[in-house]
Amino acid sequence: MSDHVIEIKHLSRRFRRTTALDDVSLEVPAGIVMGLVGGNGAGKTTLIKHLLGLLKAKSGSVRVFGLDPVRDPVGVLGRIGYLSEDRDLPQWMRVDELLNFTQAYFPNWDPAYAAELRETFDLDPKQRIKSLSRGQTARLGLLTALAHRPPLLVLDEPSSGLDAVVRRDILAAIIRTVADEGRTVLFSSHLLDEVERVADRVAMLHNGQLVLSDQLQTVLDSHSRLTLRFAEPSQTKPTLPGALSCDGSGQEWTVICNGQIDELRAAATEQGAEVVEHAKPSLDEVFVARIHDGGSRSIDADQEVNP
Ligand code: ATP
Repeated sequence: MSDHVIEIKHLSRRFRRTTALDDVSLEVPAGIVMGLVGGNGAGKTTLIKHLLGLLKAKSGSVRVFGLDPVRDPVGVLGRIGYLSEDRDLPQWMRVDELLNFTQAYFPNWDPAYAAELRETFDLDPKQRIKSLSRGQTARLGLLTALAHRPPLLVLDEPSSGLDAVVRRDILAAIIRTVADEGRTVLFSSHLLDEVERVADRVAMLHNGQLVLSDQLQTVLDSHSRLTLRFAEPSQTKPTLPGALSCDGSGQEWTVICNGQIDELRAAATEQGAEVVEHAKPSLDEVFVARIHDGGSRSIDADQEVNP
């Protein structure tokens, strides 16, 4: 059996005229934190829904723990802790009622850990879910995803609604601890600095296509941010091998590229420019450079999901 917790092969998904996923293949090994990044409408939630068996692969295949999530929902869902993007919790319940209710579904529920998380997240057990703030709801959703200590934690935009302190100090620590215990985390996020802080691997979706999937460190090491200075103002953008984006004007230009630095310097010199600064770009800069055509799609509420 494969030691990949998640194996997606050639997965495509269309909603009428919208291609939400386009021939995506992705493997997630056990014990790592995978950050799934992409702009609005990139396909992150659609991919996650396939992992949970909420959508059936119409083209390609999805395996989680070697199982098809649609054919074997119990085998898959029993091992996943999931936080949905819209935090759909039963509004009429109180916090403690939801915890008791959720516990019944998971034999591995850890009541002591649930109580500890409830304290950390500062949630009142008697408060009704409908009266919780957005941030409190996000924390409660996270608690229910975590307290059965799932081998796979799937978090769709876990930061949304959380304040900076909870995001930075609590969420990041929890995610790291899960991976340190040999469990696997897949989380989607718009916050690239956060992904850069916690993820081991990163998968980048754009318009349904996987544009990059690698170790975070490899992604950062294989890209460069170069500042070029020309002796004379240049009217045209410099062209360097592997250039992903180029901003600037006149004598100074900043280029994000994916290439060998010696070749880049040589190409810059050939074009009459000097490399005055060479730095590693942030993940955010790599992302923006890779998707610089900026296409995003809006949700058409009339379109139906066909599981
Ligand atoms: P966001 O960060 O905005 O949540 P996302 O990366 O999670 O975006 P998805 O929700 O997977 O993106 O959407 C991918 C594309 O598929 C979008 O163009 C969206 O409009 C479309 N889409 C998703 N679900 C449906 C649906 N049920 N019916 C019709 N179109 C859909």
